[in-house]
Amino acid sequence: MNDYISSIMAGVKAKNPAEPEFHQAVQEVTESLALVLERHPEYRHAKILERIIEPERVILFRVPWLDDQGRVQINRGFRIEMNSAIGPYKGGLRFHPSVNLGILKFLAFEQVFKNSLTTLPMGGGKGGSDFDPKGKSDNEVMRFCQSFMIELQRHIGPNTDVPAGDIGVGGREIGYLFGQYKRLRNEFTGVLTGKGLNWGGSLIRPEATGYGCVYFASEMLATRKQTLEGKVCLVSGSGNVAQYTVEKLLDFGAKPVTLSDSNGYVYDEAGIDREKLAFVMELKNVRRGRIKEYVDRYKTAAFTPIDPKQDYNPLWDHKAHCAFPSATQNEIGGKDAATLLRNGVTVVAEGANMPTNLDGVAQFVDARILYGPGKAANAGGVAVSGLEMAQNSMRYGWTREEVDKRLHLIMQQIHRACVETSERFGCSGNYVNGANIAGFLKVADSMLDQGLV
Ligand code: NAP
Repeated sequence: MNDYISSIMAGVKAKNPAEPEFHQAVQEVTESLALVLERHPEYRHAKILERIIEPERVILFRVPWLDDQGRVQINRGFRIEMNSAIGPYKGGLRFHPSVNLGILKFLAFEQVFKNSLTTLPMGGGKGGSDFDPKGKSDNEVMRFCQSFMIELQRHIGPNTDVPAGDIGVGGREIGYLFGQYKRLRNEFTGVLTGKGLNWGGSLIRPEATGYGCVYFASEMLATRKQTLEGKVCLVSGSGNVAQYTVEKLLDFGAKPVTLSDSNGYVYDEAGIDREKLAFVMELKNVRRGRIKEYVDRYKTAAFTPIDPKQDYNPLWDHKAHCAFPSATQNEIGGKDAATLLRNGVTVVAEGANMPTNLDGVAQFVDARILYGPGKAANAGGVAVSGLEMAQNSMRYGWTREEVDKRLHLIMQQIHRACVETSERFGCSGNYVNGANIAGFLKVADSMLDQGLV
């Protein structure tokens, strides 16, 4: 089996050079699947693994737009339609200068398994652009979104492919994208999720990823008869996921002490309470400022710059019980994982996608801490996107309580699926294998049912 996996990995690297994040995501999943492929030769005969790592379709396009000075700007647009075995392609759009084909392929690949875990009928996709919304005026963001949608609209639709937000794509961007889709296609339909409440959005969608991640952490702790009450928590990022992670941690009586952005992080030993969180939300969502400004307001906190060239991130070097990486991929390297373990962290719940590198994952799994990988722990966002699609189809909206109850239930079901699957495959307590295998089985069986397509 190891030879088979090694030859798959060699093929992935040869065929997709210069895509290290994609290689990393595939490697983690294929290692987990060795156990399944041993027991199920039918998957090998049908080459399910070889097919699942190949996108069904990749769309790459030019996005020309005019900046406020009337100068021509050109960005790249992408949509990766990875797998539609269990439903229409579904996954966010990322606008960030680091976006390239490999990053979006890793995200689309992860999304296939995550969406399968949610119990809802959604295939996997991802898209975005190397456009950087930071420092752009609202008008520039609008012109970019409109140009991006002129091409994207050919490929998406409520029963084909339903994008959502991700890094750099929040309510403002979804609004501009939706407006342009409606204008071009002359139809008001649930083609995007994360929409505004007045025009087809779902309550709890903005909160869903952060809330869901905390629900998942709470389920993991319950297996050891513990709760989040009083637990000191390190949270990275200060965007959508980080903000609502902090909010739900406060609901559960935990004490979040850090937040970050790409310039650095704040450590507030006194804890980030609701008033401080409201300040951060206004700072980030309205004024679009930097997290450094937190320390001008709150003297209990200190700001430390983060140098991306360093092979460690000082944010993770504080005494704590739990860590909630909620910024970006590979923000926990091998050194950081060792630091977290040394400092007594026993829960890592990933709000971000693939925030821990392979060395870090191996350390967490070996240490047998409660480690919830992103495709399980952050699935709440896409789960509520699925609920938004259901509400759009019904032309009806559920209450906040109803959506939150469903989100909570889905996170409990995902947790149970991870635990039961890891037990069934002889690796009890390994949430990485549990999530990868449980996510894979439903998609693989659907692919077998649907023949060689
Ligand atoms: P967001 O609102 O744009 O916030 C992203 C945060 O991470 C910002 O604070 C940003 O700082 C920081 N960040 C981004 N790139 C970084 C980098 N290279 N180095 C250091 N910090 C960086 O995005 P989000 O929706 O919260 O997404 C955060 C993570 O959660 C991503 O991995 C995303 O894929 C994942 N996720 C999101 C959802 C969702 O529903 N939104 C669902 C599942 C998973 P700057 O402002 O300085 O860039």
